[in-house]
Amino acid sequence: MKTLSLLGSTGSIGVQTLEVLRVLRGTEHEYRPVVLAAHSNVERLERQAREFRPQAAVLFDRAAAQDLRDRTRDLDLTVLSGMEGLCEAAAWPGADLTLNAVVGMVGLRPTLAALEAGKPVALANKETLVAGGNLVMESARRNQVEILPVDSEHSAIFQCLRGNTKSQARQLLLTASGGPFFGWPRERLEAVAPEDALAHPNWTMGAKVTIDSATMMNKGLEVMEASWLFGMGPEDIQVVVHRESIVHSMVRYADNGVIAQLGTPDMRLPIQYALTYPDRLPSPAGELDLFALGKLSFYPPDQEAFPCLGIAVEALKRGGLAPAAVNGANEAAVAAFLRGEIGFLDIPALVGEAGARQPQAPADSLEAVLEADRAARTWTAERAREQAKRR
Ligand code: NDP
Ligand code: MG
Repeated sequence: MKTLSLLGSTGSIGVQTLEVLRVLRGTEHEYRPVVLAAHSNVERLERQAREFRPQAAVLFDRAAAQDLRDRTRDLDLTVLSGMEGLCEAAAWPGADLTLNAVVGMVGLRPTLAALEAGKPVALANKETLVAGGNLVMESARRNQVEILPVDSEHSAIFQCLRGNTKSQARQLLLTASGGPFFGWPRERLEAVAPEDALAHPNWTMGAKVTIDSATMMNKGLEVMEASWLFGMGPEDIQVVVHRESIVHSMVRYADNGVIAQLGTPDMRLPIQYALTYPDRLPSPAGELDLFALGKLSFYPPDQEAFPCLGIAVEALKRGGLAPAAVNGANEAAVAAFLRGEIGFLDIPALVGEAGARQPQAPADSLEAVLEADRAARTWTAERAREQAKRR
């Protein structure tokens, strides 16, 4: 039996990961989650701890952690809290693999802690690579551990690269659903409310990634994630809008052969692949019915209505701390939008400006990355509060 440290166990990816673990019971890829970590969802973490009996549980929020400690006195469970607790969980000595599915830049330090402890990391937390890609990839190389992508597009590319010569890959074709506002002109996006943006056509996900999908910032973050994971420059990554979310991404090779990975839109498939790689086991994800689908469609992205994609690609081209600033600003802008402080189109406006304000500097230390993130976040949150007063 293998062991797993699962960060973000109460979220959309975390809950689906536990579903996959139930399915893998009794196979050669049976996993026992030895640590479960989340932010503050005491009820759900307690339920998970009672079912899976991990050695430790972490709640980032200290009061919530104390509550969990009180409720689980009958269990043999160590309860930790704060960033130290999260990093300890990520580097848990008894875990063979760490799956990071927390949302946001808060996942960076735990990812580094896992890699530094020599743990392979299954990574759903894309913000980790966006802000600290340089540090993360360098740590993985130095410690000779693998990063296994969980994000569906990156899992697809990872699968399309297997059995081929990486240096002969010419272009990554990153598919995007286009989100709930595909085809809308810019003017119509002005009045979009949080509840409209939270209704994604194909995927059920956490609030932050759902809003990122609606602005297409998610695809911008994924271009950066792909660039780090697969060592390709922004000029070699093409975003393709594909409404059906069946083709999860593709690789174009030197001979113009294009290899794609297809499946129903179900995150349990890429999650399971990261856990059983290189094996493929029966999955709870449904079978793809090509005849029921009939047709698949592909479009170029509308960069005018959805400027976040261009902002992210520009930050990747600038390099250094620009991606960390854009990511931090985006996290603050999405939170402000969800609180009703700013409008939908204010997200790209604020994120673009925050990115441009970031001075050119290398992302060569954790401190530099955290500071760029903090500065962009603070600036964006202040602008959002000012706008809220005027609204
Ligand atoms: P959710 O919002 O559903 O869940 C987030 C998880 O992170 C929760 O368990 C939450 O705990 C935990 N968390 C948040 N902040 C902290 C913190 N400070 N310390 C510890 N835990 C924390 O997000 P998703 O599952 O949708 O997404 C997770 C990551 O995976 C994101 O980076 C996202 O971009 C990526 N991803 C998601 C996909 C999806 O289909 N959902 C697809 C591809 C990538 P609590 O519940 O206590 O708040
Ligand atoms: Mg994705």
